[in-house]
Amino acid sequence: MRTTVAIIGAGPAGLFLSHLLHLHGVDSVVLERRDRDYCERRQRAGVVEHGVAEALRESGLGRRMDREGFRHDGIELRFDGRGHRIDFPDLTGRHVMIWAQTEIVKDLIARRLADGGQILFEAEATAVEGVESERPRVRFASPEGDEDVLECDYVVACDGFHGIGRTSLPEEVVSTYDKVYPFAWLGILADVPPSCDELIYARHERGFALHSMRSETVSRLYLQVPAETDTAAWSDDRIWSELAARFELADGAWKLGTGPITDKSITPMRSFVTEPMRHGRLFLAGDAAHIVPPTGAKGLNLAMRDVMLLAEGLRRRYAEGDTAGLDAYSDTALRRVWRAEHFSYWMTSLMHTDPAATPFDNRMQRSYLEHIAACRPAAAQLAENYTGLPEV
Ligand SMILES: Cc1cc2nc3c(=O)[nH]c(=O)nc-3n(C[C@H](O)[C@H](O)[C@H](O)COP(=O)(O)OP(=O)(O)OC[C@H]3O[C@@H](n4cnc5c(N)ncnc54)[C@H](O)[C@@H]3O)c2cc1C
Repeated sequence: MRTTVAIIGAGPAGLFLSHLLHLHGVDSVVLERRDRDYCERRQRAGVVEHGVAEALRESGLGRRMDREGFRHDGIELRFDGRGHRIDFPDLTGRHVMIWAQTEIVKDLIARRLADGGQILFEAEATAVEGVESERPRVRFASPEGDEDVLECDYVVACDGFHGIGRTSLPEEVVSTYDKVYPFAWLGILADVPPSCDELIYARHERGFALHSMRSETVSRLYLQVPAETDTAAWSDDRIWSELAARFELADGAWKLGTGPITDKSITPMRSFVTEPMRHGRLFLAGDAAHIVPPTGAKGLNLAMRDVMLLAEGLRRRYAEGDTAGLDAYSDTALRRVWRAEHFSYWMTSLMHTDPAATPFDNRMQRSYLEHIAACRPAAAQLAENYTGLPEV
């Protein structure tokens, strides 16, 4: 098989890249080791930055998001039994969309197939070869179990944190930066209308909690739990009473609605960056190159931003014969990546209770939260980063 751009992974990064390349007249094939149903059901992100939502609209993928998703103009920070709203349009002129990653993936797959795009499901990439030559190749196991080869001009690894893309870069050219947090998120999906109009980020002595939503009838909630937690240790009743305790307001004016829990999962928390994000004709994008703890809602957005940059670089390469965009890709993408890494680390450190924290550390956290609640520039800094910095 031969194509112009071989894309490994049909997550949001790989699918959006394939879609954008198609709009630019550049041919691609996507290899995905899972089946279509699995890709469309994997529960993950739900917050889409202002600029990424715009990019979805501009590329013809905004209609369902605008009809069925929610525009959110703020979030609530809840601590010491009080709530403080961060008003995005007032502070930044921007907003975010609440639109599940599963829905973005569904729309992208449907659109690629309708446009005649090639997504090979149950086709696992096993090796990337010849990336320093002009004819790189990706070996993959076909759905029938045979070994096949995809030849191309460029390989883009959008194969997530556990893929083969990153490990195909020679060790001597790669630096990695890593931080593992001593806690995880227990996430639930519940058939109950959200108890709030906007996301609530709660800091409590018992640990962090987040109230999010998927639709008018489905809520998504998270609890900070120790790393290595098993979901079996958390009965539905225990989850609801812990959530109620962490979200409680001092005046008792707010009540958490409960309902049947349809999904429980554990998300480990880590920060991770690979540098550079390119070697020869192999590019890394999305979680293949970097991971953030989900507190800042940046993972999906970074993945989409990477491939927007890459799609423009590839367009210039084929439309104008100019490789400047591709040559600058790694440095340009890494500037945004490191900003998002810092913001995600900062939000995580601000909102979670670290088991090793001293009483002094806890006072520092509360003091900063009070500063955000009282001081407009401090709130604006949070809002700027959360809604997505256009200039980085
Ligand atoms: C619980 C949770 C909540 C989150 N919340 C948010 C949020 O609110 N906002 C936000 O921005 N981000 C959030 N994130 C992060 C976000 O989901 C990820 O950053 C995003 O999925 C990255 O997309 P990707 O396309 O780079 O990688 P992935 O979505 O991981 O896709 C990689 C794809 O590659 C495939 N693959 C892997 N290896 C191979 C191979 N060898 N051959 C072929 N295919 C392969 C995989 O099967 C997968 O389909 C959250 C994550 C989690 C877990």
